[in-house]
Amino acid sequence: MPPNELSIDEISAGVRQKKFSATEVVMSSLERIDALDERIGAFLTVMRDESLADAKRVDDRIARGEHIGSLAGVPVAVKDNTMTRGVRTTAASKILEHYVASYDATAVKRLRDEGAIIVGKTNLDEFGMGASTENSAYQKTKNPWNLERVPGGSSGGSAAAVAARMVPAALGSDTGGSIRQPAALCGVVGLKPTYGRVSRYGLIAMTSSLDQIGPLATSVRDAAALFLAVAGKDRQDTTSADEPLFPLSSIEGSIAGKTIGIPKEFFVDGMDERIRKSVYDALDVFKKLSCKVREVSVPHTKYALPAYYITVTSEVSANMARYDGVRYGLSIEGQSLDEMYRQTREAGFGPEVKRRIILGAFSLSKGHADQYYQQAQRVRDIIGHEYHEVLKEVDCLITPTSPSVAFTLGEKFSDPLTMYLCDIFTVPANIANLPAISVPCGQIDELPVGLQVIGRPFEEQTILQMAQAYEQATSWHLLKPEM
Ligand code: GLN
Repeated sequence: MPPNELSIDEISAGVRQKKFSATEVVMSSLERIDALDERIGAFLTVMRDESLADAKRVDDRIARGEHIGSLAGVPVAVKDNTMTRGVRTTAASKILEHYVASYDATAVKRLRDEGAIIVGKTNLDEFGMGASTENSAYQKTKNPWNLERVPGGSSGGSAAAVAARMVPAALGSDTGGSIRQPAALCGVVGLKPTYGRVSRYGLIAMTSSLDQIGPLATSVRDAAALFLAVAGKDRQDTTSADEPLFPLSSIEGSIAGKTIGIPKEFFVDGMDERIRKSVYDALDVFKKLSCKVREVSVPHTKYALPAYYITVTSEVSANMARYDGVRYGLSIEGQSLDEMYRQTREAGFGPEVKRRIILGAFSLSKGHADQYYQQAQRVRDIIGHEYHEVLKEVDCLITPTSPSVAFTLGEKFSDPLTMYLCDIFTVPANIANLPAISVPCGQIDELPVGLQVIGRPFEEQTILQMAQAYEQATSWHLLKPEM
């Protein structure tokens, strides 16, 4: 079997037992990228030389009998808003076109410490702002299931690279759905950990109070393996949490007796009936696995999206201030300092980033901050409280991940409000600080559908167990785009 068909466990065991070398695995990943990425456009940078040198180092260490970790020789793609030392890291923005990261993000460092090989940097919506990856300043990524469709976003490059089996797994980041929605649209697994679970050190900030790094993979187990490698307290990020983790093997086993809550606010009139049916069919699977299913209500859910976009635009306007042409990336000279700022930012930022900076500057301005930013934070508290209360009664919540399957390129591009609505089912977990996973649960018109499982804070183990049991009982995750 070619290494691009193997699971993470199989690759890592095969490399350690010298059935094949890390170099062979990485070469096969690079060959597949060469063969497919011209059509898909998942990668902004392919780290050919670096990845082969890293693979050789892993092979040399194995030859010397040294211990290599759980990801020995596993090729991983990393979203291009995450720092990779010595490699261009652009956040898909012109303002960082020539920026070379001077250090590895903690998540990247932890992957390397486990023996993983970073093979490239994937495309995204500029700085993570979008739901289709069309807001990249460089290229449009295509959905491997249908090249006329978007892969979702903002981690669309990571999702497409995994779906096309160019890499077994990738890192993405999720502020309001950017791991789970592209995972759903590309038919792969995506996990957004609890805020604080994975260090944000080296993640280019979009919305600091919500951003979270997490894995995309072709199976729940592989997503869990990547998650466990990157999770945990990091002294470089004071918001990272020191909560106990769990062994990978603990995601296997029975889920009998678990109670699933179905929040009625997620099943509104007007949603795609075929998506509703896919989710209800999935609930039947859980019932066969002896789970209890009950309807619950989280009435303030309807305020999650407005609270999210006020929070995001406000924090974006603050976080983007550092791109001033003085320290990082692009710099365009002017007659005065002000003119230099203006010209640099005018040329460096795309339209969606500018829109959010302007909206955010307004929500944070004197006289309006209390009405907007502060109000949004109060709404966040209320929503968080409501979800935490409901999750005392049930072990997890199940919802669709996305209100639609992959849409056509260009379809929502010129209508930001419609694009914002893509996040309607994913944003609540971010706003309420809850972990959530998307797993494939069906197909509509030969396009994948995603099921979302939301859990209690820091109980990634429970949602991984639920997703794993579901995956074992079904075969949706085995479907692959023909490439
Ligand atoms: N689509 C959402 C937005 O544009 C989510 C982005 C994300 O999670 N990074 O804000």
